[in-house]
Amino acid sequence: MTVPGSKDFRWRLADDDGGQAALFAEEELIHRHVGIGAYRGLEFLHVRAKQIISTVPEASRVPFRHTINAYRGCSHACTYCFARPTHEYLGLGIGEDFERTLVVKINAVERVRAELRSARWNGDVIAMGTNTDPYQRAEGKYHLTRGIIDALAEVGNPFSILTKSTLILRDLDRLVAAAGRAEVRCNFSIGTLDARVWKATEPGTPHPRQRVEAVRRLNESGIPTGVLIAPIIPGLSDSAEQLEEVTAACLEAGAVSVTPVTLHLRPGVKEHFLADLRGKDPTLAAALTRRYRGAYLPKAEQAEIVAPVQRTVVRLRPQAPPTRQWHPALGPRDIPAPSPQPSATAPPEQLSFGS
Ligand code: SF4
Repeated sequence: MTVPGSKDFRWRLADDDGGQAALFAEEELIHRHVGIGAYRGLEFLHVRAKQIISTVPEASRVPFRHTINAYRGCSHACTYCFARPTHEYLGLGIGEDFERTLVVKINAVERVRAELRSARWNGDVIAMGTNTDPYQRAEGKYHLTRGIIDALAEVGNPFSILTKSTLILRDLDRLVAAAGRAEVRCNFSIGTLDARVWKATEPGTPHPRQRVEAVRRLNESGIPTGVLIAPIIPGLSDSAEQLEEVTAACLEAGAVSVTPVTLHLRPGVKEHFLADLRGKDPTLAAALTRRYRGAYLPKAEQAEIVAPVQRTVVRLRPQAPPTRQWHPALGPRDIPAPSPQPSATAPPEQLSFGS
């Protein structure tokens, strides 16, 4: 594993969510902290961020304009994680380094407070979980996401959180308090309930059934929480039975939206994902190598893959009133229930969500 010294870092960050150059002052960069106890096997690189609220370029296709990511790298270690290459920008590896050498912006909460007070801040929605998971294991130690929630709540700033972690329930009271002052929306990423696929592709995450229960708890507590059925991996988690099972469970748990997203594999991630898969199922790895000529499957194939999700939503919520969706960029708006019309089966825009 590469463990750089401060001068090895190239703080030339280029997030998938737009990123900014030189977020950190070099002289403030590093204190290495080796994890012990529950954090054994992890290494934390403490940095002081000069700026914590990132602005996504106008040209970006993602549905949010402002993001906060307090951590870089993610111990959830999903084999398909699109954020892995961001570690390369730091001079670290996209494999084990991404999973075990975690950058922690230790001044994230004070920076958020300062930037929210700035006359330049317009009170826009802030999305968390767009790059790495704000409730990964490190959050149990550093409590940065909790502090950021409190800071946003203090000024009534709307926000959204995307996660795979049930650690979010630790902060349920904070989220409820924040929702009393501003629009708050959560999303869970639950690609499958198939334990075999979960263990093979998301080894550091809580069991997907625990995530479904977290969706229930959040919705019952008044926090509108949806689910991204993501990623749907061809040959692993795309059978009609698998998709109907996970969709039905999420709807039964009260998910306010269910959005299927087919696996996409950008350069670097593709090689990592397929190499890992080759060691587990060489035949499938070869098949996916042929199918993924680019980062995405052809749209017609995506539409075919996500169809069981949409059929299940129509079957289980046929009379559903317009769903109060919470668009990270546009705020609350009414979205009609899924329609069985062919036009509704087009695959959703694939977003660069981190979880
Ligand atoms: S996909 Fe999300 S949860 Fe998984 S490793 Fe990447 S950032 Fe973490």
